[in-house]
Amino acid sequence: MRLVILGGPGAGKGTQAQQLCSTLSIPLLAVGDILRGEIAEDTDLGKLAVSYVERGELVPDATIVEFFRRRLLLWDVFNGWVLEGYPRTAFQAEELDFLLSDLAQQLDWAIWLKVPIEVLLSRSIERDRSDDSPEILQRRLDLFEEQTIPILDYYEHRHKLLTINGDQSPEQVQQDILKVVNS
Ligand code: AMP
Repeated sequence: MRLVILGGPGAGKGTQAQQLCSTLSIPLLAVGDILRGEIAEDTDLGKLAVSYVERGELVPDATIVEFFRRRLLLWDVFNGWVLEGYPRTAFQAEELDFLLSDLAQQLDWAIWLKVPIEVLLSRSIERDRSDDSPEILQRRLDLFEEQTIPILDYYEHRHKLLTINGDQSPEQVQQDILKVVNS
């Protein structure tokens, strides 16, 4: 099973992705966490990414695309995955499709956790993370609207988009996802 989780900051992507991974026994690739780990370890990727992550800007496509090009070749993700935080732009979505077609693999679903913007704001304010200050949060929300919403059209056209009401309890959201993914 190959799944992408889409949603704004605070939409519940992390929670849902983790639960899906444990239920379906597949690994999670969470880009934000991967980048924060690389920054903490001061790796080459971390050095490239740090100034963007600190400002709430997207790391340049070329860097992220290249990372995934290598990462999806590793044996641990050969049989499936849940991607959280990638793709975040229509360009990245296209690149992911190119990569999957090179690997003779296919995405099963792009799951969109649909949550009203005011709920995203109030949920994110409750989190306490260094890249969640009000200005950065606003920037992340703006970027989400600008860059991520076009991805929905991309997957809709390809009949891969699964829209889920994310403004419910985490358990209900998970059930709604599994109903479709397992059918
Ligand atoms: P997240 O924890 O998923 O909200 O990601 C935290 C930060 O990592 C973002 O604000 C971006 O700076 C960076 N980031 C995460 N995913 C991507 C991506 N697909 N493309 C570019 N930058 C990303």
